[in-house]
Amino acid sequence: MQAATGPLSDPWNIDVAGGALRGARQVPSPNWDERPEAVAPELIVVHGISLPPGEYGGPWIDRLFTNSLPADAHPYFATIATLKVSSHLLIRRDGSVVQYVPFHRRAWHAGASNYCGRERCNDFSIGIELEGTDDTAYEPAQYRALSNSIRALCAAYPSLSTERIAGHDDIAPGRKTDPGPAFDWPRLRALVRAG
Ligand SMILES: [Zn+2]
Repeated sequence: MQAATGPLSDPWNIDVAGGALRGARQVPSPNWDERPEAVAPELIVVHGISLPPGEYGGPWIDRLFTNSLPADAHPYFATIATLKVSSHLLIRRDGSVVQYVPFHRRAWHAGASNYCGRERCNDFSIGIELEGTDDTAYEPAQYRALSNSIRALCAAYPSLSTERIAGHDDIAPGRKTDPGPAFDWPRLRALVRAG
């Protein structure tokens, strides 16, 4: 019998066969394809998103990533409603986690990008969105959930490393600004190390 504290009841445990984080709400996105053959995830990309920008808690990120964002619900939505995008995970303001794409598959989060001379970061990365904006402090619960997710990912996928975590603004400078100056990298690194 599984102990209450055993790995199968750990919300930060990853089912590698299914590519799923057990504690995450699963909202399957159609916006994925297979990674290139023999390419494993080696990079974790941190993003920030809120829909509409600066508003939290609505259903719109789920809707964007499932190609069902109503273009007429907000002026901003008309500019993005036809995008085919996704991420592997979203961490809401309360620290709850949503998963859209299995980790072994390629999510469409980075766009044109370059990490240490290597282009097309979607091929070899895992994308994690934080609900937020570039200029507003992210929540403590989000840092905890992010560091727990990163440690679970690095344990499940040996090709990943806590040394290879980048912001979207790091891999697409000039084009993307998220997660922005509000994101506290030293805080994340300390939490990841403390695990
Ligand atoms: Zn981004």
